[in-house]
Amino acid sequence: MKEFEPVVKLLLDLVAIPSVNPCFADGKGEKEIADFVAEYARKAGLEVHRQPVYEGRDNVLIGIVGNSNETILLETHLDTVTAEGMAIEPFNPQIKDGKVFGRGACDAKASLAAMLQALVEVARRGSPNRTVWLAAVVDEENGFNGVQKLMASGFKANYAIVGEPTSLNIVIAHKGTVRGNIITRGVSAHSSQPEKGLNAVMHMAKVLAALERYDSELRMRLHPLVGSPTLTVTMIQGGHGSNLVPDFCQVKVDRRTLPNEDPLAAWDELKRFLKSQPELLELNLEFGEPELLNWGMEVPENSLPVKRLSVACQQLNLQPQIIGVRYTSDASFLVQNGIPAVLFGPGSIEQAHTAEEWVEIEQVVAAQKVFETLALLPTE
Ligand SMILES: [Zn+2]
Repeated sequence: MKEFEPVVKLLLDLVAIPSVNPCFADGKGEKEIADFVAEYARKAGLEVHRQPVYEGRDNVLIGIVGNSNETILLETHLDTVTAEGMAIEPFNPQIKDGKVFGRGACDAKASLAAMLQALVEVARRGSPNRTVWLAAVVDEENGFNGVQKLMASGFKANYAIVGEPTSLNIVIAHKGTVRGNIITRGVSAHSSQPEKGLNAVMHMAKVLAALERYDSELRMRLHPLVGSPTLTVTMIQGGHGSNLVPDFCQVKVDRRTLPNEDPLAAWDELKRFLKSQPELLELNLEFGEPELLNWGMEVPENSLPVKRLSVACQQLNLQPQIIGVRYTSDASFLVQNGIPAVLFGPGSIEQAHTAEEWVEIEQVVAAQKVFETLALLPTE
């Protein structure tokens, strides 16, 4: 077998360890991969801490102390989405056409391999110019509880790079999300005498039309990096039988927020909009508590992580674009806790979560070099 660079060998080992988030039916959690990562780092002489988040699900913190007061946090996640329905073998990674195939190969084990191997190489050379911590956290693909635990523990750094597939571009802004239910209530009656009832499904039809207008209004608000907020009705449920006037109908909505928009305020705005529509005034409308509140994030183009990362990339003749993305990430929790953060990592988001997930080896190798260079840059 051909000899691969250590970072590629490491990526293959990481993909071969299933770490599906337990929120999925096939999810066994992150224990085995956390053990592997901790042991790999310990053998290289790095400092290793475990931070329990749930029973058997620990964040792994790996560090090397540097010669200045500057501290970088490299953060990425140990968990993956489900491997069900994949068109390839999820945990038997294959190499083809310069790509590694397997579940998590791109999101986010490519970043994890690049960050971990970079730290190993930095440790080999002695003390770097700044302290570097790698936080490999659990539960990014579901509740973001790994990063929240890290922040609750009081962890501090001057800036952070979050490893997600950005095709080696620097992501300085992303959207947030709020999800919730809207309910219409009517009066049930036999469908032979519909005039005795109040049809909750027909009432919901009016709400849906209003929601469509609201979405059009949202699309007028343009952010230069992430575009406009959106509102999507994702599920509908109503009625009890084919011969009954339905007294209940519920829809689930998903509202994507702008980077600095408070998701709770966005939910309240949606409520106010519907309550102010004349054709809905007579309806019996209810709103559920928001089920998911994820902030977006944005850092200035001249913030420390962008500056440092740009210099490191320049030294390696890479030309990253400064961009915004639509998906949410751990970075918002870091920014909310006063740590300026950007996303940067090998692989494209187009391949994340797909049936044939893959990452280009060239990008993984390049990312490792970037993280290494970042640790070794002179401080000002
Ligand atoms: Zn990810």
